[in-house]
Amino acid sequence: MAESKRDYYEVLGVARSATDDEIKKAYRALAKKYHPDMNPGDAEAEKKFKEASEAYAVLSDADKRRQYDQFGHSAFENGGAGAGGFDFSGMDMGDIFGDIFGDLFGGGSRSRRPNNGPMKGANVRASVRITFEEACFGVEKQLELNLKDECNTCHGTGAKQGSSPETCSKCGGKGQVVFTQQSLFGMVRNVQTCPDCHGTGKIIKDKCPDCYGTGYINNKKKITITIPAGIDNGQSVRIREKGEPGVNGGPRGDLLVEVNVSRHPILQRQDYDIFSTAPISYAQAVLGGDIRITTIDGDVVYTVKAGTQTDTKVRLRGKGVPTLRNKSVRGDHYVTLVVQVPTGLNSEQKELLKAFDQAMTGKNSNEQPKEDIKEETEHGTGNGKGKKKFKDKLNEFFE
Ligand SMILES: [Zn+2]
Ligand SMILES: [Zn+2]
Repeated sequence: MAESKRDYYEVLGVARSATDDEIKKAYRALAKKYHPDMNPGDAEAEKKFKEASEAYAVLSDADKRRQYDQFGHSAFENGGAGAGGFDFSGMDMGDIFGDIFGDLFGGGSRSRRPNNGPMKGANVRASVRITFEEACFGVEKQLELNLKDECNTCHGTGAKQGSSPETCSKCGGKGQVVFTQQSLFGMVRNVQTCPDCHGTGKIIKDKCPDCYGTGYINNKKKITITIPAGIDNGQSVRIREKGEPGVNGGPRGDLLVEVNVSRHPILQRQDYDIFSTAPISYAQAVLGGDIRITTIDGDVVYTVKAGTQTDTKVRLRGKGVPTLRNKSVRGDHYVTLVVQVPTGLNSEQKELLKAFDQAMTGKNSNEQPKEDIKEETEHGTGNGKGKKKFKDKLNEFFE
């Protein structure tokens, strides 16, 4: 990745001389704070959690820490000084987390036990599209999903009635095979799902005809999900135990629903703040007046002050998006007021504007007569001259 990475020590907030214990402590505090289970739907927390986990994965390992101290992040990049490459994307953060926390949060115990014990089912991913306003105030959506359920005929064993699955001979029923590999960081013990039994530890000779030996059947299910107020485009909602069924009595996996938020024709969102522009007429800018501004709470009346310049930014405090943590705490709505220059004037309107201009010129004519003359000589034709002059007057007036 080309994007600049934060220093691992900085991420954990420890000194370069930190002891293993200090590193562990720092990570424990960060992981607790940013763990996805504690911050459902919070992409920022998830990012921080991953960042801290990655830092901990390196700094808690004496070899990797030495490499990092010597070469920095390039120690683990392809073609870097450390060579070989070290890919974090394939790393199981759950394992690191499990090592340090045990089962404190549950769910972290997936792959460390032999596979023939109870295992949590796989997570299922889905997505849903909602409107800008629904994202602001929260919404309930119904999803129809194909979810696996235990087969009623074989009760999930996958074996034909009257027969039962046999213990897999390749893995001895463990569901995993272990092999060791030489790598840059020394001997690495790799655990792989058994290719013969696919991790179940059992081989089915006579398959159940209803589920073709899988032990599961697909069911269409309607699931209602509650999307919290303040959710942003790309964030996910986790619904516990609505994923694939667990194995050997384990709990179901989770359903992770990515939320796609449609654009709003007028309003734009950045974090919890909203931005928009509102047109005001030339007269409103000069004299002041009431305008209507579209907000997520509906239209509000805003009083423009006399002498408002174009591009003036107005803050509507608390009219932004409710925050995920507390929906009564909201961002702000920033409105840029844009003065509209009238076009297509009829002759009466033109005369009025000229009269106005002359009235203004009368007031200001003593201030810079010489410059006006100079501009006239430089800009030739009568038509352009008149425009230029009027524009200058306006600028003078509004500066
Ligand atoms: Zn079956
Ligand atoms: Zn096996």
